[in-house]
Amino acid sequence: MSPESPKIEPDRLAERLRALPGLDRVRDAAGDLRAYLVGGAVRDLLMGSERTDLDVAVEGDAAALGGRLGGEIREHERFSTATVRVDGLELDLATARSETYAEPGALPDVRPASLVEDLARRDFTVNAMALPLAGDPELIDPHGGLEDLEHGLLRVLHERSFVEDPTRALRAARYAARYGFELEPRTGELLRAANLDTVSRDRVDGELRKLAREPRARRGFELLDEWGLVPIKAGTGDLIAAVGELAAAEPWSDVIDRGEAVFAAALGTNADAARELAGAEVPSPSRGVELARGHDGVTLALARALGGEWLDRYVGEWRTVRLEIDGEDLIAAGIPEGPEIGRGLAAAMRAKLDGEVGGAEEELRVALDAARS
Ligand code: ATP
Repeated sequence: MSPESPKIEPDRLAERLRALPGLDRVRDAAGDLRAYLVGGAVRDLLMGSERTDLDVAVEGDAAALGGRLGGEIREHERFSTATVRVDGLELDLATARSETYAEPGALPDVRPASLVEDLARRDFTVNAMALPLAGDPELIDPHGGLEDLEHGLLRVLHERSFVEDPTRALRAARYAARYGFELEPRTGELLRAANLDTVSRDRVDGELRKLAREPRARRGFELLDEWGLVPIKAGTGDLIAAVGELAAAEPWSDVIDRGEAVFAAALGTNADAARELAGAEVPSPSRGVELARGHDGVTLALARALGGEWLDRYVGEWRTVRLEIDGEDLIAAGIPEGPEIGRGLAAAMRAKLDGEVGGAEEELRVALDAARS
């Protein structure tokens, strides 16, 4: 595990559990339904990391618990789950379930089950622990997750884990990047043999987007490349870092979402268009606007990250330049409705961008000249 990783403190579990806002209400609403904090929430509680979303598994009807809690409920029929917001916390309530896979990579068949079976369907031991909400908060850890957490190891629960669901291999990169976890050796062997072709593109992209939103996304994509799962081109790490930096400050933060930009950088999306923009000759602002218009923010950010410095001015200034005149002014001056209007306004815009006109009167003069020519 990386040196800055937090200490694992099982002794402080009870205290940290008590400190979670909203959890008392869940405990009261659960009554005699057996409810448990599970998965990443338990892992993060052990590590002392903050989180705003918690997973609760219920041996019984999770939707009923959701109903008793009030709040905002979304029910997902297939998995008997509900999402509830209480006191600033987002709770995902799910009926404890077991899963069987008809074929590799397919979505699982689901049936209600005990908590122990529910933990057995999970991805890694560190995510397969539970804490009962009522009574003594004693850690339920059938797969040795606590010990693996202490050693910073990602370990699958069984040999077929990545065959059943290869997206777990992508999830491993997310945890490895975020916490500096390493792959337990056998898990590493199994992971390298994972076959992502059995999974739909949407599911793969869903996991990769989650990775792209991580602060240490670069590390995650580099790991996936090292593991032979998702190859990246030379220079991709630097590109991810560069778009991440752009997204952190204005003006770029106004036009791109960091996760989407990192995702595109990692997968090489729109790379050709971005490279072309980055290498373009831009002798004037009006030429810059002509080139950049029509491209989405992510493509522009990739181009900027590839060296197209002029795009800072496009995004920060040129993009929002507006004329003081409009088509009505041209019509009032006797120009008939039709393509002449657009031609005139475009000429005025070019002149304004390039600093050749100031004020409505001069804009109109340039527009009328162009419309009449
Ligand atoms: P984060 O900390 O990024 O929110 P998380 O660990 O809470 O991540 P989620 O994707 O929210 O992970 O899933 C919640 C829990 O569900 C996981 O901790 C894991 O136990 C289980 N899980 C999620 N996806 C899978 C999967 N594909 N296979 C097995 N278990 C899974």
